[in-house]
Amino acid sequence: MRKIVFDEPTHAKWIKWRKDCETASRKIVDEFKRSKKFEINNKLYKRQKSEYYKEDGAFFGKCAYCEAKLKSKPSLDHYRPKKAVADENGNQLKHPGYYWLVYSWDNLLPSCASCNEGAKFKGVSVGKQDKFPVRNIRARRPGDEVKEKPLILNPTIDDPAKHLEWSSDKGKMMIGKTKEGKITIKILWGESQDIIKEEWETAYNDVLARLFGFLFSGKANWRQERQKFTDGIISGKAEYSFVRRAALRDVKDFSIEP
Ligand SMILES: [Zn+2]
Repeated sequence: MRKIVFDEPTHAKWIKWRKDCETASRKIVDEFKRSKKFEINNKLYKRQKSEYYKEDGAFFGKCAYCEAKLKSKPSLDHYRPKKAVADENGNQLKHPGYYWLVYSWDNLLPSCASCNEGAKFKGVSVGKQDKFPVRNIRARRPGDEVKEKPLILNPTIDDPAKHLEWSSDKGKMMIGKTKEGKITIKILWGESQDIIKEEWETAYNDVLARLFGFLFSGKANWRQERQKFTDGIISGKAEYSFVRRAALRDVKDFSIEP
């Protein structure tokens, strides 16, 4: 997971969508007030999905959580769940869901199927689904969400580097440095991280191999080629850039560079 800066687009279609979303949000809030029920227009909240999925956008065509490249059927995740809420262990809470944020552009994150909808791997169920643990206060009414302190990281708000560390010496795993980091790992990938561990390790090893490759390539421009490669990691464009950055850091630590 890497820090993502998602500036709101300004094109006409987006602005029209935002207006339609505001109207639909008012409707859903009224509906809930009257009947304690609400209907979700899935087509509406997904209308601008390409802004979340595209390769040259803020998310670089990757899952906002695990940084896997999005495949053919990506998900548009509601960071605050839209119609039911569970705790970190998946126990359903008495909560209708954050119905007032169903159409909020900044409550949507592109996600791979496993991080969002969940998956089972080696007998362990992982994935966010409706899980949304918070510290202390739980928002139940529009506007109250600002008082919440979520325990699952949002890479467009939190700086994942403050909460997570990919460690090559502690079992080649993502380590939670804070409560938020630990719970995020547990929810998305499970404590053993089996579902993604191999991909991350491959990415880490790939960086080491490539760095050595540049060094011994014998090419005159190897430094420029290496720069281009590391730029792709530092910009966040590369798949699993958070783990790849850890490899860059470790190479520096061991002073392998001439
Ligand atoms: Zn993912």
